[in-house]
Amino acid sequence: MTARIIDGKKIAAEIREGLKAKVSGLSEKDRPGLAVVLVGDDPASAVYVRQKEKACQEIGVKSFMHRLPQDAPQGEILALIDRLNRSDEVHGILVQLPLPGGIETRDVITAISPEKDVDGFHPVNIGSLWSGEDAVEPCTPKGIMTLIDSTEAEIKGLEAVVIGRSNIVGKPVAAMLLRRHCTVTICHSRTKDLAKVACRGDILIAAIGRPNFVTGDMIKPGAIVIDVGINRAGGKLTGDVDFEAAARKASFITPVPGGVGPMTIATLMQNTLKLAGI
Ligand code: NDP
Repeated sequence: MTARIIDGKKIAAEIREGLKAKVSGLSEKDRPGLAVVLVGDDPASAVYVRQKEKACQEIGVKSFMHRLPQDAPQGEILALIDRLNRSDEVHGILVQLPLPGGIETRDVITAISPEKDVDGFHPVNIGSLWSGEDAVEPCTPKGIMTLIDSTEAEIKGLEAVVIGRSNIVGKPVAAMLLRRHCTVTICHSRTKDLAKVACRGDILIAAIGRPNFVTGDMIKPGAIVIDVGINRAGGKLTGDVDFEAAARKASFITPVPGGVGPMTIATLMQNTLKLAGI
């Protein structure tokens, strides 16, 4: 079998086009607004924030950038979030992570109003997601579900194996697969005989952060393989999956780059419009 490539770049571009069309008919006052808070000078965070600003410009979302210095006291960040929570122009609030040492990430995230929590990281939204209620869904996992749906596979009842249990990818995507009636197994660094477990996955999601961790022998023939990993080695980006070997066995596979990566920002824009009621 040779897998079909799931083209995340193309799907993300289509999503952005659709959102742009929705926003273009709105008056200036009705346009959705996204506030982005960047604390400190982490170079990777600065790149991500610029990409988000660019997406806002492209779609017509108002972006409100707030850059605070590395040594900004927690109280100043919380006061800013309080102002943004009360602003009528701001529908989504995003605090770029990681925050500098000394800042309690949980305190900052929980200060965001759950109705403006565009990343879906607030405990209220996490709880809603797991209890099957309407929730703001975290961007990367929601993007992953869009990629799976693009295959038009009927996923109800399938075995889904998620490798990685982070709060931003592994756990929320597991919750979303469960909501869609998959039988879900979450693997992590203490999982025994991980290769054997991975082989059960009709859907296999790798969110580990280790280049080529998932080898061909871990792929069930015909599986849908989603590679979330972004690993930089010698100036080259690689995923968590040995792409060549996996593509020989899977029915669908995401490339790195050009798979999950572009979906995260497209989904962030979807969430911003959703929070603005558009
Ligand atoms: P984390 O480091 O938070 O989590 C990694 C997970 O992988 C942990 O649950 C860890 O297990 C597990 N793991 C690590 N080593 C092993 C191992 N040897 N065997 C089994 N499991 C292992 O990473 P994230 O979830 O934040 O990100 C994962 C990858 O996805 C990274 O490459 C990241 O860059 C990428 N990413 C990509 C995004 C995108 O937009 N495309 C967005 C977010 C992340 P344990 O819990 O036991 O330690």
